[in-house]
Amino acid sequence: MTEKFSTTLREQTIEANLRFIRERIAEAAAKSGRTADDVRLMAVTKTVEPIFINHAIACGVGLIGENKVQEFLSKQPFLNLDGVEAHLIGHLQTNKVRQIVPHVSMIQSVDSLKLAREIDRQCEKLGKVMPCLIEVNIAKEESKTGLPLEELEPLLEALSLMSHVRVEGLMTIPPICDEKEKLCDYFYKMREMFVDIGRKKIDNINMQILSMGMSSDYAEAIECGANLVRIGSSIFGPRLY
Ligand SMILES: *Cc1c(COP(=O)(O)O)cnc(C)c1O
Repeated sequence: MTEKFSTTLREQTIEANLRFIRERIAEAAAKSGRTADDVRLMAVTKTVEPIFINHAIACGVGLIGENKVQEFLSKQPFLNLDGVEAHLIGHLQTNKVRQIVPHVSMIQSVDSLKLAREIDRQCEKLGKVMPCLIEVNIAKEESKTGLPLEELEPLLEALSLMSHVRVEGLMTIPPICDEKEKLCDYFYKMREMFVDIGRKKIDNINMQILSMGMSSDYAEAIECGANLVRIGSSIFGPRLY
């Protein structure tokens, strides 16, 4: 295959994948009494080359997510980000915060007080308030990033006093589950926390976004209440590292 031909083929696949995913999102939203407009689709672009990210954007994707600061900053000059939001969704080290905060409109992976404090500090210097999600380690998996459940309350208390970080919701990556029921238990637990925290009306905490669901489980996540799904390989194909 010539390179041009394979590029075109991949672009057509991305377009078809997006159409299929949007239909499934609409179906899952309907099952939970909502419409497709109530669920935001994020295209997760880690390891994807700018040409294909731009193609997804041309197909109507308005939100992209990257995991790594360095990777995003190196691709950003080649992206057509007019009218497109970019969020950081991967584990963030405090020493990278300064570099990333000018370039993203949300950090979905806040999982420690130390990190929250550094985002607050760097955003204060820029005169900016950073919308954030707290990443919760819902199944207490040792290998995973995310905040342990028992640390959620103290972190929210501390965040309520920070003036350059605003909490807008929760994010999670559940464990791989063969049974749908078990998976949904995790998603429902997230939703319950999301609603409970929202009801408490804590200063500086405005629960609007429940970010859960990836390629393998976005339909279930939406049925359980997710309103933002993060989808990578089902849009762009398998990742080549
Ligand atoms: C890679 C990644 C995704 C998307 O994963 P897919 O299974 O390819 O859809 C979603 N969220 C986070 C945090 C990721 O790192």
